[in-house]
Amino acid sequence: MTSVAVVFGTRPEIIKLGPVIAALGPAARPVFTGQHYDAALIATFLEVAGVPDLTPALPGIGGAGRAGQVALMITGLTALWQESRPDAVIVQGDTNTANAAAQAAHYLGIPVVHVEAGLRSFDRNMPEEINRLVISAVADVHCAATEENAAFLLAAGTPSEAVHITGNPIVEATRAMLPTELERRRVLAETGVGSADFVLATIHRPENADDPARLALILSQLARLGRPVLLPLHPRTRQTISRYDVQVPSRITVIDPLDHGRFLALACSATLIVSDSGGVQEEVTVIGKPLVVVRNSTERPEAMRAGFALLAQPSEILEAAHRLLDPAHLTRLATTPSPFGDGHAATRIAELTLAAISPSAQEPPAPALLRAA
Ligand code: UDP
Repeated sequence: MTSVAVVFGTRPEIIKLGPVIAALGPAARPVFTGQHYDAALIATFLEVAGVPDLTPALPGIGGAGRAGQVALMITGLTALWQESRPDAVIVQGDTNTANAAAQAAHYLGIPVVHVEAGLRSFDRNMPEEINRLVISAVADVHCAATEENAAFLLAAGTPSEAVHITGNPIVEATRAMLPTELERRRVLAETGVGSADFVLATIHRPENADDPARLALILSQLARLGRPVLLPLHPRTRQTISRYDVQVPSRITVIDPLDHGRFLALACSATLIVSDSGGVQEEVTVIGKPLVVVRNSTERPEAMRAGFALLAQPSEILEAAHRLLDPAHLTRLATTPSPFGDGHAATRIAELTLAAISPSAQEPPAPALLRAA
């Protein structure tokens, strides 16, 4: 029986790999490393993805530093796969989990499939950028979401037959969780935001969440947007707020992180989204909402080019919001297609993975691809 280890350790990985696990069917062997050990960030997502066992395969790695996490996960996953060897390993994105799993599989001679391959911010200060480069070096099948992602891989010398434009499974993951009008209203009532005209914000990237002065500036700018702001607070950001006594303006309602369905219900209802998240940059293109990206750089320029998002420093949030909320611009967004795929990425990724295990036994999946690289 074919066995494909699908490895994840954080919220965005499980959201995006859920459709891939479903497409693989009984061949999928989900492995949760435990990198995010906060229940609010992981438990409900595992349930949604149909992963029954919430126990981390590698207990205790959550609190380790970056090098410690990668080292512990390479060692732990190597032991796991030496005992029970999968036919292929799928990793997603740019986390320490994906980095370690890709290396462990590669050193064992197991084919590595990288979902969301070829993203580049060209910002070596981002730990994620280094993870991407390491994974690209060892992966065998590179599933790029967009033509631009594929072009980065080819320019770096990746063999063209290993690069495939599949789209990003976030498109189908988002579509599957889209709330009904009734659900939207129920979630809105639960949060007590008290207005249909509000801003939804998430802040958790180290460049914002670990710098108390920058975080305080972001919060004060959010409060000046002229609307109530709802902030589902990531544990990392919560820690900085309490450690440095960062003031949260009264315009901002802080709530716990939400499960994906509730988060999307609020995102669909909000007038504007402000975030430093990677995944949210993709989701807004599926739900047709404007987004201010509070970051120094982004590896997802497609969302900007399509008009959904603007990159802003904390002091530029108001100006960016003003530009995005132009009524004619909002009308255009409602009918602009997502640049991240057509909602069939997971099926293509599953087909490519099975083909990588025994290429001769499988039909080539090329006809189903968006376009061969
Ligand atoms: N998300 C969620 N609940 C929240 C905040 C975010 O479900 O309270 C989802 C969001 O819809 C997106 C994903 O988490 O799909 C993004 O994860 P995160 O921002 O943690 O990581 P990144 O994408 O920046 O790596």
